[in-house]
Amino acid sequence: MPHRSLEHLLQQNREWAERIKSEDPDFFRQLAQQQKPEYLWIGCADSRVPANEIMGLMPGEVFVHRNVANLVVHTDLNCLSVIQFAVEVLKVKHIIVTGHYGCGGVAAALKNQRLGLIDNWLRHIQDIMKLYGKYFDALPDEATRISRLCEVNVMAQVQSLSETTIVQQAWDEGQKLTIHGWIYGLEDGILKDLKVSHSDSSEIRGKIHNTIKATLAGG
Ligand code: ZN
Repeated sequence: MPHRSLEHLLQQNREWAERIKSEDPDFFRQLAQQQKPEYLWIGCADSRVPANEIMGLMPGEVFVHRNVANLVVHTDLNCLSVIQFAVEVLKVKHIIVTGHYGCGGVAAALKNQRLGLIDNWLRHIQDIMKLYGKYFDALPDEATRISRLCEVNVMAQVQSLSETTIVQQAWDEGQKLTIHGWIYGLEDGILKDLKVSHSDSSEIRGKIHNTIKATLAGG
């Protein structure tokens, strides 16, 4: 079978690089020397939620980790390695966990769909949902439950992030690091702050627990 060429993508890349160089001839040369991003983005792998584009950032401005449903799992060496490198070596000032409405991973977790290996990954979201079961049961319909779970999942991941050894150590040593939880609307392209930002470890668990309860009680 002959392989199919992706020449159109390579051509688009050449045009993109030319466009950037025409605006700033030194752009790539300077960036090649070192990266110094201020932000680490932990987002969903969904193709509709690309970190750079939706924040209007250029290459070099945001360090990115993406996985299905933007989870921070304490045994995920991939995610932890990204966080460690970003915090300890790049010294990012902000970590932003970003979910999105209409997340397929969140919906699959909520509906308990059987999709294969990924079910085990999505189990983490089901665990969060079980903690707040009576609140989810009280929501009027499935669409609302999915939207609230998309938000609550981000809040829970911010808490999980705050409890990693890396973030704890950075705060213990007085490093300036703020963690945030945002959610993105596929239908309007807008990022919303879920108001779970923290710059130190004081009472995070209780505060996020209260925010989650208020979010779910709000309907
Ligand atoms: Zn998603």
